[in-house]
Amino acid sequence: LASRTFKEENTIIRVGDLEIGGNQIHVMAGPCAVESREQLFEAADAVKKAGATLLRGGAFKPRTSPYSFQGLEEKGLQYLAEARERTGLKIVTELMDASSLPMVAEYADIIQIGTRNMQNFFLLRAVANVQKPVLLKRGISATIEEWLMSAEYIMAGGNYQVILCERGIRSYESYTRNTLDLSAIPVIKHLSHLPIIVDPSHALGKWRFVSSMSKAAVAAGADGLLIEVHPNPSEALCDGPQSLTPNNFGSLMTEVQQVAGAV
Ligand code: PEP
Ligand code: MN
Repeated sequence: LASRTFKEENTIIRVGDLEIGGNQIHVMAGPCAVESREQLFEAADAVKKAGATLLRGGAFKPRTSPYSFQGLEEKGLQYLAEARERTGLKIVTELMDASSLPMVAEYADIIQIGTRNMQNFFLLRAVANVQKPVLLKRGISATIEEWLMSAEYIMAGGNYQVILCERGIRSYESYTRNTLDLSAIPVIKHLSHLPIIVDPSHALGKWRFVSSMSKAAVAAGADGLLIEVHPNPSEALCDGPQSLTPNNFGSLMTEVQQVAGAV
């Protein structure tokens, strides 16, 4: 179902009046984690002003350490809904387990499946049952074929609204957090009709490299970007080193729009 041989024309995912996979690049931006109403509103206002069309922020966080901040859960989802009211931005947020699906689906416009859950087949089957777009992140060591098979799980269960997200894969390189696989963009475009967006924040792990990789992703044909933005990155509870300030995000958007206009 995900294959280009099954369906030739590109799939467009509609989120309200946004069309992901259409002619326009869409940028999902916001903090790694929803930390407070003030933090989220500040980030939301800034990314809206700079031209993002979707607000991202985790209320349930898959942290490597059990002692790290785990998210505000339903309170975080409520703040996201308030930020949507305030700015008109659509909401992208992560679902970590099937039991919180009804709650997350009530608030989210797009449900994110994180890299660590790309092959959680039970969770994939669960999101197959809701009629909401799913942002499926590439597994940390997943091949493109495995990733497309995970998309297939969601589609085979009846939900055809899948957006793929390249977020970097494990390699021997350790200067960057992961290795951004830009080649996944043309390969996915060849193999599948689904839209693909790129998350250079988690791929690079360092804010100073996010802008150049964003431009490269757009030049290579990505349908959008996922960018972490925090009003005060040095105080972020999660992923501060890779988060852009509102100012730097503004510059990124200007540069990305120039590249988008040229391709
Ligand atoms: C995130 O988007 O904040 C996140 C946890 O991403 P990933 O699953 O790609 O690590
Ligand atoms: Mn993050």
